[in-house]
Amino acid sequence: MKKRRTHKPKSTPKPGAQKDRPSDEVLAQPTPEEREDKWNLRPRTFDECIGQRPVVEALSIAIQAARERGEPLDHVLFYGPPGLGKTTFARIIANELGVSFKGTSGPALERGGDLVSILTNLEERDVLFIDEVHRLPRAVEELLYSAMEDFTVDIIFDKGAHARIYRSRLQPFTLIGATTRAGFLSPPLRQRFGIVRELTFYSEDDLKKAVHRSAGLLDVPIDDDSAGVLALRSRGTIRIANRLLRRVRDYAQVKGDGRIIPEIAAAALALEGVDDLGLAPLDRRLLEVIVHHHLGGPVGIDALAATLQEEVQTLEDMVEPFLLHMGLLARTGKGRIATEKAYQHLGVERVEKKARKRGQRELL
Ligand code: ADP
Repeated sequence: MKKRRTHKPKSTPKPGAQKDRPSDEVLAQPTPEEREDKWNLRPRTFDECIGQRPVVEALSIAIQAARERGEPLDHVLFYGPPGLGKTTFARIIANELGVSFKGTSGPALERGGDLVSILTNLEERDVLFIDEVHRLPRAVEELLYSAMEDFTVDIIFDKGAHARIYRSRLQPFTLIGATTRAGFLSPPLRQRFGIVRELTFYSEDDLKKAVHRSAGLLDVPIDDDSAGVLALRSRGTIRIANRLLRRVRDYAQVKGDGRIIPEIAAAALALEGVDDLGLAPLDRRLLEVIVHHHLGGPVGIDALAATLQEEVQTLEDMVEPFLLHMGLLARTGKGRIATEKAYQHLGVERVEKKARKRGQRELL
C-alpha cells in the first residue's frame, strides 16, 4: 500500500503575519462560530444551495458528464468577494463527485515540498481546493503547471551540478482554486483552469431564503419580515446573513422570548453597528474619509488605506466590492469618488469643490 504522507499546516505565524489580518470591522471574515459549526450551515449538495443559478447549472452538467465518463472534473476557478460560497461550492463539487476533499491555501504552501506531499497523496479524481490561489509562491505555482496539465510533478533532489530531477506521476485529480482577485492570477495558471466562474452578490430574495434556511437549522423561530430585515442588511453575502442571524438570535434570547421579530432584529442590528443599507463601520468610514477629507474624491487607494490605517488589500477585497455594487462608490482613472447616493446615505450635503476649497482658504 502507498505510504501516505500528511501535510502539516504551519503552526507559528511568520513575523508580520498580523499585518495581513483583515480588520475585525470587516464582516465578511469567517466567524469562530462558522469554523466551529463547520458543516452545520453549509449546504452539502447543489439542491440545498441558494442562488448562483448559472454557476450551479454549469457545474451540475460538467459533474454529470465527468462522472459518466469516469474522468476527473476539469480544474475549476472561483472568483468573487469573500463569503459568497467559493469554499462551499468546492466542497459540494467533491461531494457530488463522490470523492475526497483536501483543502489548503496559497500562503500555507510555502515550499514546493508542501505541495508535492499533498499532490502525491491524492487519490484518483479527488478534489484539491486551494483558497487564495493568487497568493501561491512563484516556485509552488510553477510546480502546479505540469500537475494540472499532465498530472506529473518534477521533484528536484540536490542542487547545482548534482541536481537530479525525478518525474512523479500523479493520480488524475481536480484542482479548485478560489480567489478574491482574478486579475492577480498569472496567465499560465489562469489558462489551466477549464471552468472559470464568478460568484456574485446574492439578491435580497436569496438572502431571505438563506436566513430562513439557517434559522431552521439553528432552530430559531423567525417571521418573514424579520428575515427581510436581515436580508437587507447582509451586504449581499450569506456569510454575513448567518453571522447577523446568530447575533440577533442571542439578542432575542436575552432581551425577548427567543423569537425573532422585526423590532428585535432592528435593535440587535443597531447594536452591531450595521446600518439600514447593511454598511459596517469600516464601509462608512471609507465613504466619510472620501467625502470629508478629500471633498468627494478622486482619491487613490493608498491614501485611503493610510488615513483609515487599513491594508490596501483589505479595502480592495472586502470593502470596495460591495460599495461599488451598491453604487455608493465609483472608480475613475484618477481614483475613487463618492457618488451622490453616498452623500445621501451619509446625510451630507455635497458642496461644490471650488466653494469648499475657497471656504477652507478663507478660514486660514
Ligand atoms: P467563501 O469561500 O467565498 O469565502 P464560503 O463558501 O465559506 O465563502 O461561504 C460562507 C458561508 O456562507 C458558508 O458557511 C455557508 O454556510 C454560506 N453559503 C455560501 N454559499 C451558500 C449558498 N449558495 N447557499 C447557502 N449557503 C451558502
